[in-house]
Amino acid sequence: MGETDMERRAALITGSTSGIGLGVARALAKAGFDVTLNGFGDREAIETLRAGLFAETGVSVRYDAADLMGPEACADLVRAAIGAHGRLDVLVNNAGMQHVAPIEDFPVEKWDAILALNLSAAFHTIRAAMGAMKAAKYGRIVNIASAHAHVASPFKSAYVAAKHGLLGLTKTVALEGAPFNVRCNAISPGYVLTPLVENQIPDTMKARGLSREQVINDVLLAAQPTKQFVRVEDVAGLAVFLTTPAADQINGASLSVDGGWTAQ
Ligand code: NAD
Repeated sequence: MGETDMERRAALITGSTSGIGLGVARALAKAGFDVTLNGFGDREAIETLRAGLFAETGVSVRYDAADLMGPEACADLVRAAIGAHGRLDVLVNNAGMQHVAPIEDFPVEKWDAILALNLSAAFHTIRAAMGAMKAAKYGRIVNIASAHAHVASPFKSAYVAAKHGLLGLTKTVALEGAPFNVRCNAISPGYVLTPLVENQIPDTMKARGLSREQVINDVLLAAQPTKQFVRVEDVAGLAVFLTTPAADQINGASLSVDGGWTAQ
């Protein structure tokens, strides 16, 4: 199945009940994809979101509550998405979490959880999706990495390690998928003001004795030359672009959307 098919294409976006994932899901739905949402949150709020997206776009919008901490749940999520929509054209691995602590105090269970969600979950979903994509001779896999896939910050050992690993996975899958018209790329955002970042602000205020404005301007945006947060829409627009024919030869890349952070 290719881009020129008149049939509707289908996308699965992990961690799409909030933040970047929700933005990517919304943009893909607007671009005409049937979408599977996934992630945590209040069931009623998620149903309102799902119904709203359907009302707005007219595509099929389904929700799967899979907890991606385990291999089987990841595989089941992919199988259910393919079962429901009959195909899987686009897989966006977005679900992620953060924990900030000096390495000597870094809780071992947080290390394990961050590696499981930010890295291993992408391996498990791709592993489950690859057969169908190869058979269809079409697939577009987008892994939401981070500027922290390229550079480090102190106190983020697990996150930085997982995101660097995700780039390695991205490149490997790109090579394996290339002969089958399956592409795999990473998008590496700088700071986006989502709940994941919001939640770091109070701790950083406390840890460094700073005001909210100081944390935003002197800590978060310190490395971002534009001195602006990246918008969810900036990341979502690029994800949609990667599903268009103009992006057919982009493979194994990490595309930075970080206001120049990693240009330094
Ligand atoms: P967010 O906290 O707003 O969203 C995370 C999503 O993942 C939510 O839908 C949440 O329910 C879901 N999730 C959490 N644990 C899960 C689990 N076990 N199983 C399934 N879903 C789970 O975060 P965000 O900022 O939108 O981050 C999305 C991705 O973007 C992450 O991979 C993050 O590392 C990456 N990223 C974020 C920023 C940023 O500044 N916000 C920058 C670079 C990269």
